[in-house]
Amino acid sequence: MIERIALAGVVLSGTGGIWQIRTEAGQTVDASLRGRLKKSNSGRRADGSLRRDTVSSAAETLKLAVGDDVVLERATPNDEWAIAEILPRRSKLARRSPGGGHGERILAANVDQVVVMFAAAKPDPHPRMLDRFLVIAEANALAARIIINKVELVGDREARERFEVYESAGYPVHYTSVKADQGLESVREVLHGRRSVVTGPSGVGKSSLLNALFPGADLRVGAISESVNKGRHTTVGAHMLPLPGDGGYVIDTPGLREVGLWSLPANELDRCFPEMRRLLDQCRFGDCRHVGEPDCAVREAVGAGAVSTDRYDSYVQLLEELENTP
Ligand code: GDP
Ligand code: ZN
Repeated sequence: MIERIALAGVVLSGTGGIWQIRTEAGQTVDASLRGRLKKSNSGRRADGSLRRDTVSSAAETLKLAVGDDVVLERATPNDEWAIAEILPRRSKLARRSPGGGHGERILAANVDQVVVMFAAAKPDPHPRMLDRFLVIAEANALAARIIINKVELVGDREARERFEVYESAGYPVHYTSVKADQGLESVREVLHGRRSVVTGPSGVGKSSLLNALFPGADLRVGAISESVNKGRHTTVGAHMLPLPGDGGYVIDTPGLREVGLWSLPANELDRCFPEMRRLLDQCRFGDCRHVGEPDCAVREAVGAGAVSTDRYDSYVQLLEELENTP
C-alpha cells in the first residue's frame, strides 16, 4: 500500500482547474481535483464491482467552491497536491438556476455572514441596492450586517437617522469613517474568526477599511471584478482573502454585484424582509402578496409606520421584477 500524506485546507480561489488552497499550516498551495474524482466513466473497481460513486463525484467536482474545506493528498513530499475530498458545507451563497431545478451556482461555501457596505455620501447610498443585497443574504439563510462608511461627511446623527430603519428591522449597522478613524474596532471584532462576504458598490471604502484594519495585508476588494468585467457578462470567480493572524477570511464575490434576481420564487420574497416576516401569518390570505389584498397585515403595518415605506417600496419593486421574469 502506498502511504499518502494528507492535509486539511480551505479553497481560496480557482483558476482554470487549478485551485489555490490554504493549508492548516497557513501556506497557500496549488492543487487540482484528484483524477479519480473527476472521471465520470471510469467503470469498474479492481474487484470488478461497478463504481457507484463516480457520477456523484463528478457532480461534486463541478460544484467545488471557494470556501470549501477540503482534504489534500500527495504520495511523496515532491508530488503535486490533489484535492481528495470535499468536506460537508455548513452554509453556502448560491444562485438558483432559473425556474428552480438543478444547476444552482455556488458562489461561496461556508459563509458565516454577509457584510454589505455603503457610504453615507460620495457615492450617495442606494437603498434599493442595499435591500437587494440583504434579500440575497436572507434567501441563503445567511446573517447580514451593514457598514455605513464616510460618516464624517454627513455627521453621525444624520447617518444614524437614515439607516435606523435597518436596525429596527434587525440588522446590525456599523457607522464608520476610515478617514476620521471612527468605528473601525467594532468592524474588526465582527470580522475576526469568521468568513465574511464583503460587498457593496465601488468607491464606498471597502479596501480602505480593510487596509486600515489590517495594515500591510494589501487587501483589495472588488478591484478585479470592476476592471475586468466592465461591459462584459463574464464574472471573475469569488476569492477569499485570509485576514492576518488566523483571523478569518474576507470573501470577495464579484458575481454578487451582478446578479439581479437570483431566481428567487416571488412568493418567497416577503420572508426575506425580517420586519415583514413576523407579520405574514396575520394576513387574511395565506398566499397574500401584500399589494392589493384585503386584510393585509403588512400593508397595515406600513400604514401604522411599523414597517418603513422605503423598505416596503423595495419589496414591491423586487416583487414586480421577480413576477415578470420568466
Ligand atoms: P472600494 O472601491 O469600496 O474598495 O473603495 P476604496 O477603498 O477604494 O475608497 C474609495 C475612495 O474613498 C478613496 O479615495 C478613499 O480614500 C475614500 N475613502 C475611504 N474611506 C473614507 C472615509 O471614511 N471618508 C472619506 N471621506 N473618504 C473615504
Ligand atoms: Zn399581506
